[in-house]
Amino acid sequence: MALSYIGLGGNLGDVCATFSHALAVMDGWAGSTLEKVSRTYRNPPMGPANQPDYLNAVAALRTTLSPLELLDALQGLEQAAGRIRAGRRWCARSLDLDLLLYDELRIDQPRLQIPHPGVHRRAFVIHPLAEIAPEALVPGHGRAAAIAAHTDASMLTALL
Ligand code: ADP
Ligand code: MG
Repeated sequence: MALSYIGLGGNLGDVCATFSHALAVMDGWAGSTLEKVSRTYRNPPMGPANQPDYLNAVAALRTTLSPLELLDALQGLEQAAGRIRAGRRWCARSLDLDLLLYDELRIDQPRLQIPHPGVHRRAFVIHPLAEIAPEALVPGHGRAAAIAAHTDASMLTALL
């Protein structure tokens, strides 16, 4: 069993409902149990500014899936949520699922980098991660809470 952390993001449609559905689906995957979910945070878009604000959250998933099996499953779920891959990064999307951490593993492949390269730089990832797992180790960068303490959260608003 591995402990993985998944970043959820989206800015099209009913994002809270999309997140709830996605979390329920993950919890139902073979050999997988959803352990924790952070609050949802509102956050201005990265990249093109002419798009709605994003909502972001982080979930802890205990799983027997391998990292690549988990990535496949996450991408399947993104597709099912109606995400269109236009080939451009950072464009509006209904659901973005990033595999942030997988135990303390490090992987550097074109299709899969773990830790996800945004984990230690993006406030909307590190703050929700530190909320549910302050002690989580981001290999190469230290503990989540320590990284979060150095990352400006002034743009983030936690939803009730
Ligand atoms: P972003 O999340 O940066 O907006 P995308 O969701 O469109 O970008 O992902 C682009 C590619 O990133 C995917 O095709 C995927 O294979 C790759 N990728 C590499 N590492 C990861 C990871 N840890 N989690 C999710 N996708 C990853
Ligand atoms: Mg992604």
